[in-house]
Amino acid sequence: MPRPMYRSRSLKRKKVRTPSGKVVTHYREKRTGTPHCAECGAILGGVPRGLRSYEMRRLPKTKKRPERKFGGVLCPGCTSDLIKKDVRGQI
Ligand SMILES: [Zn+2]
Repeated sequence: MPRPMYRSRSLKRKKVRTPSGKVVTHYREKRTGTPHCAECGAILGGVPRGLRSYEMRRLPKTKKRPERKFGGVLCPGCTSDLIKKDVRGQI
């Protein structure tokens, strides 16, 4: 049975094989992932990453994504393409 502090599901578990061949569990803090563009998959700028979820929750909304249309969902290039297509009536 692991120590009480390691029984919490708020830690991420990773199985690691040691040089002797034994499999042990390493515990890490959970971190928020990297946000990607929903259209092309590029990494989004202006969005914090690698924070703890409570740190993300404490941030104001304006610091969590860029304040433009589709900010935090699409990259600037895809947003621009989408708006151009919309203006031309291609959607
Ligand atoms: Zn994109």
